[in-house]
Amino acid sequence: MTLKTPYLPNEAENIARAWMREHKQPAFVVAVNHDYGGMTCPNCNDIGGVYLKLCSAGPYQTPRSHTAVFTWFDGNETYRKGWYIVKEMMTFTCPECKGIPRERGPWISGSRVEELKAAEGRLARRR
Ligand SMILES: [Zn+2]
Repeated sequence: MTLKTPYLPNEAENIARAWMREHKQPAFVVAVNHDYGGMTCPNCNDIGGVYLKLCSAGPYQTPRSHTAVFTWFDGNETYRKGWYIVKEMMTFTCPECKGIPRERGPWISGSRVEELKAAEGRLARRR
């Protein structure tokens, strides 16, 4: 499995930084699997969104709770390896494809701007 961490829109970057500063706990970007071929968006792998997990406690050696949601982290220079409690999971529109699902593509060929405008219009009408 080839996992890749997508890049975030600025709004999400700001939220993640503020969270880590305020809570001294990590905000993890959910990685996506890049093993399948034929995907149109290299960032989100055609999910259309990117995910941010805001953690409130951890790390723990075991995820021992019936009510909390946990996520595993392999550890880095800032946060140790272990299980973290996810306080909130936020979703953002993928900054690369603007959330256009694969079946609406291919937006890479032709006029990308027009495709994006059309997709945004469709999304706005759906809300
Ligand atoms: Zn995308």
